[in-house]
Amino acid sequence: MLKCKDVVANATDYVDKEMNWKQSMSMALHLLMCGHCRRFIKYFKLSLQALKNKKTISQADADKLSSEVIAKALADAR
Ligand SMILES: [Zn+2]
Repeated sequence: MLKCKDVVANATDYVDKEMNWKQSMSMALHLLMCGHCRRFIKYFKLSLQALKNKKTISQADADKLSSEVIAKALADAR
C-alpha cells in the first residue's frame, strides 16, 4: 500500500502517465481513500497545466513552483 509521501514522490509520473499499470492502480487506489492526496494531485495537475500554458515561465520558476507544491503537500500529509 502506498503512503502519502509515495504519492507525492510519484506525482509527476502519475500526472504525465509515465507509470506502468500496477503503479497507476496503486496510485488510483490510494487517491480513492485519501482526500489529502486527491486534493494534492488536483492542485498539482492544475499547476502543471498552468506552467505548460505559460510558455514564458522559466525552468527555475517551474522547479520552484513544483517544490512549493510538494513541500505544502508533505506538510499537510504529516
Ligand atoms: Zn494520501
